[in-house]
Amino acid sequence: MSASEFDIIQRYFRNGAGRVSGPSAASIRCGIGDDCAVLSIPAGEELLLSVDTLVESVHFPLGYSPALLAYRALAVCVSDLAASGASPIAFTLALTLPSVDEAWLSGFSSALARAAAEFGIVLVGGDTTRGPLCLSLQVMGSAPAGQALLRGGAQVGDVIYVSGSLGDANAALAYLDSDSSVLSPNQKYLLERYHAPVPRLKLGQQLRSLATAAIDISDGLAADLAHILTASSVAGVLRIQDLPLSDALVDHGGAIAAALSGGDDYELCFTVPASRRADIEILGAELNLALTEVGYIETGVGLRCVDAQNKAYSPAGGYQHF
Ligand code: ADP
Ligand code: MG
Repeated sequence: MSASEFDIIQRYFRNGAGRVSGPSAASIRCGIGDDCAVLSIPAGEELLLSVDTLVESVHFPLGYSPALLAYRALAVCVSDLAASGASPIAFTLALTLPSVDEAWLSGFSSALARAAAEFGIVLVGGDTTRGPLCLSLQVMGSAPAGQALLRGGAQVGDVIYVSGSLGDANAALAYLDSDSSVLSPNQKYLLERYHAPVPRLKLGQQLRSLATAAIDISDGLAADLAHILTASSVAGVLRIQDLPLSDALVDHGGAIAAALSGGDDYELCFTVPASRRADIEILGAELNLALTEVGYIETGVGLRCVDAQNKAYSPAGGYQHF
């Protein structure tokens, strides 16, 4: 590593997102600065790992604000820990930069530090290279042995829930290039949902004892629920009229299509035995988070959607998730 790379890490990362503090500090014996980070996981827990790569122009727009990029990248990655019911511990960052741009690094690293503190996760290492802008984040968390939430446990007799509202981030794509001074409060709300998804960590952790399967919605409800159905060897039914839609999305238009097939919301979709509905209601109230029952599991293969009359609903538009 060259002196300037060392300097970048020291200045922008070691004292920011790499500051060892918060709930996961007890697990971190050595963070940034050695050949390996050294972590312990709490006795009786398993280690959960996930990595995500974001490439400029593919996963985020060219010229995207470094602060928004840092926040969104970590939120998206931590969302996988949430979907598994994990408690975050640490993450690593492989960062490829076209040049050393101090203003960019400063915006990126301070937002990364803010996001890390918010999610209770510490940057413990990484790699810094020169090339087209690209970042890979690997997150690590833990959950009590045998209790991590997986996709394959949905059972006939379960009901299907989603958290929050769906489709907002997809609708926001229309406004990504807009000057915010011309946007309405509703349009700003949609944009916020794209830029700053909230990993549903507390929800995921509470669901360890309730849910039979869970996934975070990155590619749209239809596609992501289909992963649960396939992994669980069951079929599912979605009631279109029950999909949770924000007022802002309804105002924007195309709400059902966005909710079914639009990605990027990072809400959780999960299945629970119908007998646990009351527990989900209590949990939603505790977390102050909408948890909406949108369908149920049945025998068979695949996903079908029904309308308010229980008739098959054929989605308008061209998506092919079914
Ligand atoms: P090595 O050559 O042993 O792989 P490096 O010289 O690449 O290590 O990095 C030195 C230290 O800085 C290591 O602890 C590494 O994890 C950390 N590091 C490098 N790049 C980053 C980064 N982008 N974010 C956080 N830590 C980093
Ligand atoms: Mg080394």
